[in-house]
Amino acid sequence: MTAMTTPVIELRDVHKRFVSAPDLLQKIVGAVARQPAQTRTVHAVNGVNLQIAKGEVLGLVGESGCGKSTLGRVVAGLHPATEGQLLYQGQDVSQLGGQDKLAYTLGVQMVFQDPQASLNPRQKLHQILGEALHVHKLAPATEVPGKVDAALAEVGLASEYRTRLPHQISGGQRQRIGIARALMVTPEFLVCDEPVAALDVSIQAQVINLFMDLRAQRGLTYLFISHDLGVVRHISDKVAIMYLGKIVEMAPTAEIFGQAQHPYTQALLAEVPDVGRRKRVFTPIKGEISSPLNPPSGCTFHPRCPHAMERCKQEVPRLRETAAGHVTACHLLD
Ligand code: SF4
Repeated sequence: MTAMTTPVIELRDVHKRFVSAPDLLQKIVGAVARQPAQTRTVHAVNGVNLQIAKGEVLGLVGESGCGKSTLGRVVAGLHPATEGQLLYQGQDVSQLGGQDKLAYTLGVQMVFQDPQASLNPRQKLHQILGEALHVHKLAPATEVPGKVDAALAEVGLASEYRTRLPHQISGGQRQRIGIARALMVTPEFLVCDEPVAALDVSIQAQVINLFMDLRAQRGLTYLFISHDLGVVRHISDKVAIMYLGKIVEMAPTAEIFGQAQHPYTQALLAEVPDVGRRKRVFTPIKGEISSPLNPPSGCTFHPRCPHAMERCKQEVPRLRETAAGHVTACHLLD
């Protein structure tokens, strides 16, 4: 990306916090102690900055609970950011209205992990695919069937599928319908949230190839979220590693796989299974990710880090550039 190019998506110091009301037990304890019951805050996304250029694929990787899906939902507009700015085509999304807001709403679409749960079980596939065209009045009713057939063909399904219900097709076909539904409104940008995690390994490769073909044909830009570094390797131009709400390393894909600098990235890489013996269970490193309700002090990775020093418990490491396009947050690099 040149300095003059406006990113399709940009995040500037984005935070997302969820505040939960006290449960019954906390209310009772509060009443007995004659003190107001405490609310609890989850800081799911904690000061994320990134840019995604047109046609680029950013792979976002981390364990379950690291905040990567929440970040994807912020980008897709499903969760408003608590703090910071989300920019689409250079414009602050929170300030958009009218046609500009609609351009963002249609321009950024989401593909979900579980195609079964994201499709209405009572709607036939042509109704699912045609719905957004009707709702947003994007095509006359007479043109919708032709557009539905074209979308089915684009994701590798014959037009006979148009009258089927979601439970009458396979998991891989359902994910193709999830992708086709996102494409119906001609988006610029797809947030793909673990889009192959629920599929068999053989089907995963087919769906990833479909994403790559669509990117080439339509010039799409992706935020591709996965817990599996092996999956993002094949599709991403650059990779961001996320831990407890923060990006801890981000670099071009070849550098992440060849010259990873952060101990957490190195641990994730050590667990990428060889082709032919892929594991279904992701166990990236000893110990569990800490609770975002009560994150550790300093570097939040320190309880699991084999290189942790006293300083790591006190001081939050700053994300800084260590090579062109390569940023890392770790005191070892000082
Ligand atoms: Fe490990 Fe310290 Fe680096 Fe955190 S800052 S990754 S604890 S060495």
